[in-house]
Amino acid sequence: MKKWTVVVFCSVVWLHASHAQELGIINTTKSPHVTFKSVNIGDCQWTSGFWADKFKLCEDVMVPHMGSLLKGDIGYAYNNFKIAAGLKEGKHQGMHWHDGDFYKWMESAMYVYAINKDETIVRDLDEIIDVIGKAQEEDGYLSTQITLDDNKARWSYRQFHELYNSGHLLTSACIHHRVTGQRNFLNIAIKHADYLYRTFKTEPRELARFGFNQTQIMGLVELFRITRNREYLHLAEIFINMRGKSKVEPHATVWHKAMGDMVQERTPLRKSKEAVGHAVLALYYYAGAADVYAETGEEALIKALDRLWENVVNKKMYVTGAVGQTHHGASSKVDFVHEAFISDYMMPNLTAYNETCANICNAMFSYRMLGIHGKSKYADIMELVLYNSALSGISADGTHYFYTNPLRRTLDHAMDTTDQQTREPYIPCFCCPPNLVRTIAKVSGWAYSLTEDGIAVNLYGGNRLNTQLQDGSVVKLKQDSLYPWDGAVTITMESCKAAPFDMMLRIPEWTQGKGVQLLVNGKKARAKVEAGTYATIKLAWKKGDVITLHMPMEAKLLVGHPRIEEVRNQAAIKRGPVVYCIESPDLPNNTSVLDVYLPSGVELQTHDQPDFLGGMTTLSAKVLLHAYDKEDMYSPVEKPNWTEVKTQFVPYFAWSNRGVSEMTVWMPIVWE
Ligand SMILES: [Zn+2]
Repeated sequence: MKKWTVVVFCSVVWLHASHAQELGIINTTKSPHVTFKSVNIGDCQWTSGFWADKFKLCEDVMVPHMGSLLKGDIGYAYNNFKIAAGLKEGKHQGMHWHDGDFYKWMESAMYVYAINKDETIVRDLDEIIDVIGKAQEEDGYLSTQITLDDNKARWSYRQFHELYNSGHLLTSACIHHRVTGQRNFLNIAIKHADYLYRTFKTEPRELARFGFNQTQIMGLVELFRITRNREYLHLAEIFINMRGKSKVEPHATVWHKAMGDMVQERTPLRKSKEAVGHAVLALYYYAGAADVYAETGEEALIKALDRLWENVVNKKMYVTGAVGQTHHGASSKVDFVHEAFISDYMMPNLTAYNETCANICNAMFSYRMLGIHGKSKYADIMELVLYNSALSGISADGTHYFYTNPLRRTLDHAMDTTDQQTREPYIPCFCCPPNLVRTIAKVSGWAYSLTEDGIAVNLYGGNRLNTQLQDGSVVKLKQDSLYPWDGAVTITMESCKAAPFDMMLRIPEWTQGKGVQLLVNGKKARAKVEAGTYATIKLAWKKGDVITLHMPMEAKLLVGHPRIEEVRNQAAIKRGPVVYCIESPDLPNNTSVLDVYLPSGVELQTHDQPDFLGGMTTLSAKVLLHAYDKEDMYSPVEKPNWTEVKTQFVPYFAWSNRGVSEMTVWMPIVWE
């Protein structure tokens, strides 16, 4: 009896240890070329403050509400699977990528389950997975928009988005396996990936132009990480290798608007120096390539990804972390581009596209680069995106969505297809909403990383972490902070090994290093504290040790690089990681945001407003108003007759929660 107990005990310990850190959002535990490894999903849980509030809204409203949309007759995504499974009559409805959007919503439900352990979520997903399994074709193929349409053949047209659906299927199934331990969804994914491998392994010329929006690369690498089947990693590489090998010309599988730079094929990835084309396509592609590099260590890949990341964040990114400057345009090699990057420093505000997905992809790509390089500049971008151009995609009540995220909106601006005057309860092209909801649901998984000998704190906010270091020792700690509204962070060690290890705290670039204090038990920490780096404290930590980080949070005016013509002599307001804007509900009646000028000596006051749109810190200041009262495109200069008004600035992510409004991030400066 005693012997038996020992055996059982040992096997439990082994099982636990062998899965110690393999349950991350991306599982980089065994990835040889990753510096910062993922913590397991659920190891970090928000307890209070900004992200705890957002997660609660996500759990209570965003996920269930979106589920009712997608499972009902508005979203119709689940119906498509039911029809394909032979359980319902009807036709496919929704975009070609609608299966993928449904998988993203499923993924968001899994992150919620990882925290709240509500078994009804798993039962609901089991029922759905059963239907998806029945919708899958005998050979593993799964894309209901093709299965349900007799006029559409498999792999006949690039923009049918089959591999986009594949990617989200694989990713969602991997997350499901990690949080539930079940294999029902994973088996569907494996059957599908095996089908893809059979189809693409010889790199058939007629299929060389597939996919379109390449989420399958990330999905395949994650499936490799679970199964260790190298065919999936090989296939992920095949999709990188094939892109750029086909002649850029209209083809039976490709129309003229979906080729060349639009789909990152004019220049093969390894030779690329500039981010081009559709911003979502590009960044999912780069994120997938980063996953491949994490496993293969191929020098040419990471050099290209380094160049592309720098190009995106230093030449093509908005102050909100948003990307994809234009709805329609052309690349420098004169390929048509759509929802896309355009030239360096060409940053229109009013017509900025900035699809919510593209902004999120910017953070996803940066999260992977953070893992590879272990440098804080990548987490700075994740944070910038999260607080600004990601969250702007959803309303304060969690039920309405923006597809595009311009930096200025006027009521007279003509709306094009996916532009909206305000957030909508449903968007026919539904890629962004579930992408954002799954991101909000999983932010806790990005908050910490495991370093070679310790923990990196990537994101701040009230949370508890209960994880294991890479040596298997348990660390429990508590973080208290009102971030991003206050720059004070307190981390209390609750349990850890006796031997010294590193606590690495990100000192955000936005602090500019001014006035930042890092203390351990009230005394200055022995660590180099420099903006844009991690400050590393190596200590033999013990229970009750307290790390305190003070980051002064003054509202600041920012200007743009002089090459950005669209913001010449204008300023944006930023406090900590949060970008602010001015909105018409905060201006006198009939005042356009185009009438607002910012005195250079503007005094910005902060106001904690717990009851305003879910609680936030707003700013107030006196601004100057002057209306351009002519119809003429150009007119002689006249000295303005200024009106001074006191007004409020709200965080950019919170705009358009008070009805249809005008908004601007950038305002012209009046030098005093
Ligand atoms: Zn989208």
